[in-house]
Amino acid sequence: MKLKTGDTLILATHNQGKLEEIQTLLSPYGLNINSSGNLGIEEPEETENTFEGNALLKAKYTAVKTGQISLADDSGLVVPALDGMPGIYSARWAGPERNFAAAREKVHDLLEDKPRNAYFICVLAIALPDGSSKIFEGQSHGMLTWPAKGENGFGYDPIFIPSGDTRTHAQMTKSEKLRTSARAKAFKLLQETILGGN
Ligand code: IMP
Repeated sequence: MKLKTGDTLILATHNQGKLEEIQTLLSPYGLNINSSGNLGIEEPEETENTFEGNALLKAKYTAVKTGQISLADDSGLVVPALDGMPGIYSARWAGPERNFAAAREKVHDLLEDKPRNAYFICVLAIALPDGSSKIFEGQSHGMLTWPAKGENGFGYDPIFIPSGDTRTHAQMTKSEKLRTSARAKAFKLLQETILGGN
């Protein structure tokens, strides 16, 4: 399956931060992009216990609801010293009011003096209305810092410094973050397969 200029793609997310980054990554391809949030399609409950499972669940749900090719992102911050937490619960740690300042503080409090290495995982799933699908995974490794720094990005970006840099993802411009982000790495694989590598 290849997407070409003018094809419709539905982004299966209500998360503004993800939406903006994916739209930037897709902008050179001339696709007709819409999102489940914009179409008033609810997000299904994330009942799987892996990033892959939840990404597929969201992409398939939206593909069936819209009858269009759909792309979902399931991602999160993995902290080995916290047994992989918050992991697939990264969004849920912010609670229903999406308080990511509190979620970041929870990570910091639990870490105490444990090793601060961490990584983001991003799994992109693309699904067709006929039930077929493909997944692509990217990771970005780095260190957690405290206090939080920077105003850009979203979620855990203000406490994550990618390897090879001294700034948090939230201190970077959008294009700087996309050089090292898990989402950009997953997107590169998707691009090579679905967008023909152009
Ligand atoms: P979910 O994929 O909808 O379960 O949510 C993933 C959560 O992980 C987001 O709400 C963010 O808190 C966090 N997350 C995912 N990607 C990033 C990123 O690139 N930067 C910062 N936080 C992220």
